[in-house]
Amino acid sequence: MKTVSSLLDDAWYARYKRIAKLNIRSSIYDVTNRCNLRCKGCFFFSSGEDRAAAEETDLPRWEAFVEREKARGVNLAILIGGEPTLCLDRVEAFYRRLPTFCATNGLIKVPRERFPDMMVGISLWGDEADEKLLRGRDTFAISSRHYAGDPHTYYLYTITPRQIGQTERIIRKIRDVGVKVHMQLLSNDEGVDGFSWRPEELRDIRAEMDDVLERYPDTVISCKYYHEVITTGRMLGRPFGWRECPSVTEPLDDRRPGPRRLIHFIRWASDLTTMHRCCTSETRDCGTCKDGAAHMSWVMVNKRAHLRSTRDLQNWIEVYEMFGKLYQFIPW
Ligand code: SF4
Ligand code: SF4
Repeated sequence: MKTVSSLLDDAWYARYKRIAKLNIRSSIYDVTNRCNLRCKGCFFFSSGEDRAAAEETDLPRWEAFVEREKARGVNLAILIGGEPTLCLDRVEAFYRRLPTFCATNGLIKVPRERFPDMMVGISLWGDEADEKLLRGRDTFAISSRHYAGDPHTYYLYTITPRQIGQTERIIRKIRDVGVKVHMQLLSNDEGVDGFSWRPEELRDIRAEMDDVLERYPDTVISCKYYHEVITTGRMLGRPFGWRECPSVTEPLDDRRPGPRRLIHFIRWASDLTTMHRCCTSETRDCGTCKDGAAHMSWVMVNKRAHLRSTRDLQNWIEVYEMFGKLYQFIPW
């Protein structure tokens, strides 16, 4: 059997050692059921997850909950919603106790005096026209003022099929405000006309993602293998989907035999009791899922399958490093 050390030279082995000790245990938390936007295609609202549970409003209960999560072994809290910045006390309950990542649409600025080094991921859906159409406003115009030059922030740029030929302009716009960017693909959960991916569009966007990565390596946090996996939905010849997904809430996971998966992963609703099926939409057809985090986790939990060749293992390392950078486990 091939081993890690037999496949890697010294430089790659050092990179491997750096990530091998991370042992990341993440879970995802709906901080609130409310949002100051209602984007067409938002998985949270379109799947009814906002109505799955009544929000817990008692701050000490949030604090006790986070303590229990920490005791459960969680070492990365990913805060989503709804819009977490509507409830900064709850965000702080996590931030004071755990490495914390906060997803936001960027309309409300996270006060840095209160959260000096919390990683903030700002959602951006396509260009100005897409944003107005899908989200009702050009959020970048506001979020870029709030976060220009912020070293603990990146844009999570959700690319739509209409972005083909546009991505470089958006990446430049983000570079020019001094912020990093990570890319993923729209899943179009509400079937908006013209926003579902066709195979030839996925081929084109993969080439574009590779191109911007090469041209803007100081801005784009990504790797080509991630582009391949997310655009083809395949890894080492295996198709992504329900049978392979690593990001299913562990206590709800009745797949037998179970696939390689995120250990102890739970996506909690905002009542702190209810669990959602997975890291994204409760109701999405897994065959259409383009969730970026689920795809990168899929690669990460399948290290052994990548011990096939030097290139396969290097690909695995690059995806792991990308994840480590996005959640501040290793520097940009
Ligand atoms: S900003 Fe995020 S949570 Fe709010 S509606 Fe849009 S996608 Fe959904
Ligand atoms: S919708 Fe996506 S993340 Fe959720 S279970 Fe299906 S494949 Fe996994």
